[in-house]
Amino acid sequence: MYERERKELVIRLRNRGYVTSDAVLEAMGRVPRHEFLPGTMGPLAYEDTPLPIGQGQTISAPHMVGMMLEALDIRPGMKVLEIGTGSGYHAALVAELVRPGGKVFTVERIEDLGLRARATLERLGYGDVLEVVISDGTNGLPEHAPYERIFVAAAGPGVPQPLKEQLADGGMLMIPVGGRAVQDLVLITRSGDRFAERSMGSVVFVPLIGEHGYRE
Ligand code: SAH
Repeated sequence: MYERERKELVIRLRNRGYVTSDAVLEAMGRVPRHEFLPGTMGPLAYEDTPLPIGQGQTISAPHMVGMMLEALDIRPGMKVLEIGTGSGYHAALVAELVRPGGKVFTVERIEDLGLRARATLERLGYGDVLEVVISDGTNGLPEHAPYERIFVAAAGPGVPQPLKEQLADGGMLMIPVGGRAVQDLVLITRSGDRFAERSMGSVVFVPLIGEHGYRE
């Protein structure tokens, strides 16, 4: 379903210059975004816009997801941690990029969303590469650390220290940081004990709520 709409979205993202990586564009051409949305929203899935996924949360616009994936340079075989599973769409794209041999761990604090995402991802055949964990992702997921890539799909007041600690040497960490209304998308590269930060521009994400994030 929606094969043509999905193909057109990929072409638009490339033509507008949002995404240039063939690997990312191919992944976006494969993952059925409509399967991750609540029932009635299917027809909107291939518009380049954020959409509500229930529990007051949103799935980012495809161009934002694509730009984040491209900047993180996710490659086959990598171990990646996502904080903020939401619908599971972004995680599915990461799963496409780390195959073969890689692994994706994704953490969601709202049980209802986590369970729904887990069911969708298993149904679509990502069960072997991907694990959905329901907990406070501001603590990371120490049992599987270190990760070559970590990204946070919600905005915090700062960079949670556990995430820095769980980042592999040479790894990259992406997180929107700032106030509740608007944030700066920060990309951090680790070399040894040095963490070099650069800004990717202004963004708007839902709040990261937890021990090393905002209070509820
Ligand atoms: N990547 C998602 C969209 C994420 S929306 C997708 O592709 O659909 C951000 C998500 O972060 C929300 O589901 C929210 O519940 C979750 N979140 C917020 N704080 C969190 C925390 N501390 N740990 C884990 N998930 C968190």
